[in-house]
Amino acid sequence: MRIDVLTIFPEYLAPLGQALLGKAAAKGLVEIGVHDLRAWTDDVHRTVDDSPYGGGPGMVMRPEPWGRALADVRRPGTRLVVPTPAGRPFTQAVAAQWATEPGLVFACGRYEGIDQRVADDAAAHGPVSEVSIGDYVLAGGESAVLVMVEAVTRLIPGVVGNAESVEFDSHADGLLEGPSYTRPASWRGHDVPPVLLSGDHAAIARWRRAESIRRTADRRPDLLAGVELTPADRAALDA
Ligand code: SAM
Repeated sequence: MRIDVLTIFPEYLAPLGQALLGKAAAKGLVEIGVHDLRAWTDDVHRTVDDSPYGGGPGMVMRPEPWGRALADVRRPGTRLVVPTPAGRPFTQAVAAQWATEPGLVFACGRYEGIDQRVADDAAAHGPVSEVSIGDYVLAGGESAVLVMVEAVTRLIPGVVGNAESVEFDSHADGLLEGPSYTRPASWRGHDVPPVLLSGDHAAIARWRRAESIRRTADRRPDLLAGVELTPADRAALDA
């Protein structure tokens, strides 16, 4: 997959070369380009913002540098992702869909955001997703892009060594994952649930499912609405 990020703070994206993503790039599974939006400005001050039409606080990112940058960087048909707190929610299902696509271009907003015509105009050249990573407001799109790129790329086959760990993650099946434990079996008076030491794989799978159901009901009851519960799931909830 080819990922391009447009930003006025290219250094902010340095973590894209680290850890899992760095390894994925080294293996040739992901290719990442980070571009300074100011390279597409046309004045001596390299201006990317202006005051908002209609008045109000803050500044808005001007459309012209964005239009030129996207014309150079985005291959026709490639999805443009515009992070914004006013976007549709970015979820694991969205990440899974994007992980199947050949490329993604991310446009990092700053100030009060990007002139709306940039996204509107870009829709003529491929899919455009205006997405939010949560119900809070960040200072810029860069940290949102770090979050999304990591969530998407770990779903590309070969990026995470053990494919099963992705399959059983929270949100993969619409539920939260239950608790995990490792050695020692007893620590500071807290014991690992005995079933995990039993070697009975069917019993362990049933216990994990029940813990997943109970944890979801406790922490994210909204998620349960999208999951078909089995009689065993209902019993776990009643226990
Ligand atoms: N005035 C905008 C609003 O209220 O919708 C907020 C702009 S915010 C200060 C600046 C930039 O941060 C946005 O253009 C976007 O790129 C990014 N951003 C802030 N919160 C975000 C969120 N929850 N999800 C994704 N991007 C976000």
